[in-house]
Amino acid sequence: MQKAGSSAADQLAEFERRYSRRGLLVRYARGRVKNFGNRQIMTFSGGFALALTEGPVTGGAAVLIALFGELVDCLFLSRLPRLLESGFGIRKLLVISTVTAAVQALTIVACVLMAWFGDQSGLSPLFTIAFLAGASINAGLVLPFHRSAGTVRLIAYALATAFIFFFDALNAPRIDSVHFLNAGGTAMLGFMVALFLSFVNRGFETHRKTTLRLIEQGQDLMRHQKEAQQLSLVARNANDSVIMSDANGRIVWTNEAFSRITGYSAAEARGRLPAELLNGPETDLATSNAITAALMSGKPFRGEIQNLTKDGQPIWMDVNMVPIVDSDGNIEMTVAVERDITSGKIHEQELAAAREAAEEGARVKADFLATMSHEIRTPMNGVVGMADLLSETRLNTEQKEYVDTIKNSAAALLAIINDVLDLSRLDANKMTVHPVDFDLFACISETVRLIRPQAQHKGLKLTLKTLSEVPDLVNADNGRLRQVLINLLGNAVKFTETGGVDLRLSVEDTDLGHIATIEVEDTGIGIPAEKLEHVFERFSQAEADTTRAYGGTGLGLAISRELVGLMGGRLTVESTLGRGSCFTLRLPLGLPDRTGGSGSRPVIAPRHRALLQGRVVLVADDNRINRLLIAKFLADLPVRLEFACNGQEAVDMAVRLAPDIVFMDMSMPQMSGVEATRLIRGNNGAHPPIVALTANAYDSDRKTCLDAGMNDFLSKPIGRSELVSCLLAHLNGPASATEEHRSA
Ligand code: ADP
Repeated sequence: MQKAGSSAADQLAEFERRYSRRGLLVRYARGRVKNFGNRQIMTFSGGFALALTEGPVTGGAAVLIALFGELVDCLFLSRLPRLLESGFGIRKLLVISTVTAAVQALTIVACVLMAWFGDQSGLSPLFTIAFLAGASINAGLVLPFHRSAGTVRLIAYALATAFIFFFDALNAPRIDSVHFLNAGGTAMLGFMVALFLSFVNRGFETHRKTTLRLIEQGQDLMRHQKEAQQLSLVARNANDSVIMSDANGRIVWTNEAFSRITGYSAAEARGRLPAELLNGPETDLATSNAITAALMSGKPFRGEIQNLTKDGQPIWMDVNMVPIVDSDGNIEMTVAVERDITSGKIHEQELAAAREAAEEGARVKADFLATMSHEIRTPMNGVVGMADLLSETRLNTEQKEYVDTIKNSAAALLAIINDVLDLSRLDANKMTVHPVDFDLFACISETVRLIRPQAQHKGLKLTLKTLSEVPDLVNADNGRLRQVLINLLGNAVKFTETGGVDLRLSVEDTDLGHIATIEVEDTGIGIPAEKLEHVFERFSQAEADTTRAYGGTGLGLAISRELVGLMGGRLTVESTLGRGSCFTLRLPLGLPDRTGGSGSRPVIAPRHRALLQGRVVLVADDNRINRLLIAKFLADLPVRLEFACNGQEAVDMAVRLAPDIVFMDMSMPQMSGVEATRLIRGNNGAHPPIVALTANAYDSDRKTCLDAGMNDFLSKPIGRSELVSCLLAHLNGPASATEEHRSA
């Protein structure tokens, strides 16, 4: 290949060398020198003729004169190639060789004149004219090689001819027909010489051009051959399988990769249809049809298809098929390049299976947590409620301490359950925020009040300072804000032994609402600098040794940060070990949506008792303890309490008693609370507010209840004040509930 390519280049170089000005000059010189002997045949023939007619002296003189001219010219020309090589300028050599050509032409002219004016030879002009014609042809033949040398010779011979006729006419007594015939004959001969020379010169030019074209075509051909060979090399050695099929789709050529992948040799494949050879029962019919349709319409096809190897193994191929069409648009052949993507496919399938398994795992985990939390919350409802009721009875100090311990332990257990449940919601992206209008200052001061007993118990000062104006109402998820603040304040009190905890609140106004900055600063144990960011990680405690003494799960801050993130805010910390920490919460708050209900719930006031007078409250719960608890919680209210033990009973009683409000447990035997609610809502009778009572605390449960037609949602364990607030909110209407809350 390499050789063929370089020989084409050599040919072109040789051509350029031969046809350059320099090449032509050298060829002229060598040609003249080489043909020196041939030309002397003419010299000696002419000299011999003159010797016969004019005598040996004239003949010998003519030969010597002609030889002199030839020698001057040829001696120089024989040295010319070497002069060129030694660096002599080409222009100078052209001029000198033109001069020597002129000298040689003049010697010929001299011989011609000797013949013309000779006594005997002058009688017949044929000898002279023929001699001149021969010399002209000789001079003209070298014109393409050395234009000026040829031209100067032709001029000399033409002038000599003209001079002869002119002189002859001048000296003749009169111009007769012989003169005219001689002149006419000479002119015709001259014309023929000119024609012949022009033909020869055109032939030379045509030859030059043809040679060049052939060389160039040869080069193109070789380039194409080289490309074709390279392409065939690529196809042969490609890692992908290459199949060439004829217009009827039958295989004409396959490469080695095809045999390696499919197990079929090229000979076995030749003449077969790819589909009959490779398609198996698993091959997707739609893809197979798409390939056939693309082939019929002469369009390319790209896609994945499952094939079978010779020994029946399924393989996945990425097929790239291109039809080759002729100038009339008919398909000449099809080239298919197919890549074995079996391992990629298997990997893809394994990944999909792994993803499905992981999703299934997450689902199972979430379900498990939901079930566990439900199962734990239901008995906890009994524990917390009963402890609440017990603490309201007359108890001695020791009994009071026991009850308090039960309440604290239950609260701690519930906090852990809530944290774990929150985490599982966050992981499953099921956590949503529920913004409501609420009183920001009231929310924060209530939270501070909640934590104050713990602070006082440790002898710590807990203060709340506002550093700016605080709007009356803002819009955000007050429940989640309270949860975060309880965590921050709880930690601050937990990790501080002396000094106190400050909560500072400031609110900036923006066009879209407000931004609250809440700082919780303590004078406690502090956090080492390198642990600062780790405290926001799950199950992470700053210094296990120190903090173990304080208890905790290491979940609170992780949940708080994610909750704050969900609400569009940021939670950061600064701390000095041994001196205290400051947690900063920046939270965007919306402007109040005054059409919405209040997020805060009222507490019972004596003047509302009249409004509750004689109202019928239906409670549907299959759990006896829960029914007992609610009965106790509402015992001092002037309402009429009715109980249903399952969904069907609840529906019947809702029709029969037309209650003012229904508290409905979600999961009950025979008929669930959700189903019972749907039936009640489907009835034509009264439509009391229905409030779900449930240990299922997911947002999706809340949605199910509301979709079934319930109005509100209380999650177990339910506290007394929460239940009473809910009752008031629904029986009195939200406006009066808010009024009550603000006056409380
Ligand atoms: P827990 O308090 O249940 O361990 P948190 O996520 O609320 O979990 O806190 C994680 C860790 O951050 C704590 O264990 C403690 O090491 C550190 N920490 C949190 N708040 C404070 C604080 N106010 N002062 C010192 N360390 C704190």
